[in-house]
Amino acid sequence: MKFFGKKSLRHLFSHDIGIDLGTANTIVYLRGRGIVINEPSVVAVNQKTGQVVAIGTEARAMLGRTPSHILAIKPLVDGVISDFEITEEMISYLLGRATSGSNKILSPRVVVGVPSGITNVEIRAVRDATRNAGAGEVHIVEEPMAAAIGMRLPIHEPVGNMVIDIGGGTSDIAIISLGGVVRSKNLRVAGDKFNSDIIAYVRNQFKVLLGEKTAELVKMSIGSVLPTHAPLEMTVKGRDLVNGLPKEIVITDTDIRDALSQSVESLVETVREVLESTPPEILSDIMHRGVYLSGGGALVKGLRELIESEINVPVHVDADPLTAVARGTGIILEDLESFRDVLIENESELPPKK
Ligand code: ADP
Ligand code: MG
Repeated sequence: MKFFGKKSLRHLFSHDIGIDLGTANTIVYLRGRGIVINEPSVVAVNQKTGQVVAIGTEARAMLGRTPSHILAIKPLVDGVISDFEITEEMISYLLGRATSGSNKILSPRVVVGVPSGITNVEIRAVRDATRNAGAGEVHIVEEPMAAAIGMRLPIHEPVGNMVIDIGGGTSDIAIISLGGVVRSKNLRVAGDKFNSDIIAYVRNQFKVLLGEKTAELVKMSIGSVLPTHAPLEMTVKGRDLVNGLPKEIVITDTDIRDALSQSVESLVETVREVLESTPPEILSDIMHRGVYLSGGGALVKGLRELIESEINVPVHVDADPLTAVARGTGIILEDLESFRDVLIENESELPPKK
């Protein structure tokens, strides 16, 4: 006993696991190993038996292609838990897979990242789902806080840190100082909305209906919110809305810029609102230190530069924005005691959300 601190002793018998329960991707961090699972947040369920038949990449491949009795669902739509039982099944599967082949005897200690717009009832649901799925201890952290920790920002210091996490369903904007969120806002404008903007634009301008995956591919390949050096274009297939038959069209980066302009504007507007309500000392820290972008949406070409010029503050994109939250849960696991203050241990601590 003398040779082990309490921390390291527990480590011998139990797993510590961090989960980023994203609307688009679920990432699992295993202490001592790093990221062990990175899969789309999709679950396929057999409606006849109620059983989960596939999860992640395999389930996503089924989206839009299932026979009538199999349902492929995204359990976390717009950052909220739309289906409690399925979420529980998913967490249970993740815990099982992350710890498979291990002989550790205690149930895992789990840190779960949740979107900042989530209600107390939903936090309680995540906590219960994780506990039912076999976790020994459950700790909840808000995703922008986890992203800030994952990006190694000095969140405990008396200095303002600003994070914009642009995920699939929601974008979280948060200002953090002394281990707490000073100001935050979240909006349902993120990667999924960009995809639906592209679908709506192509339907109006070309009278062609694109699939969701095609729209996402277009966004990633030629989407840019600022003019590019050389024009970009891409040939895509969709359904001609006039005669119902397949049709090929050529889309350019200018089309995508038009398609995304309103969403990008509302994102920038919300960032401005957060800055406008931030106390002056913290604002001065942020002007000096800059704003940090995480989440897959941060990879949209030109977005960093555009936000920078709109708010007149330096903007940085994390080197691996998709894993910032998961890395943050991992850093918390390494030293739970030092991060007690950032964890939501009791739902009643949270102010009611609008
Ligand atoms: P969540 O945390 O909600 O699961 P993620 O942070 O995993 O979301 O980001 C997923 C979103 O990022 C998706 O909408 C996806 O289309 C988008 N994305 C990922 N890579 C890129 C890229 N290279 N360019 C533009 N968007 C991207
Ligand atoms: Mg996320």
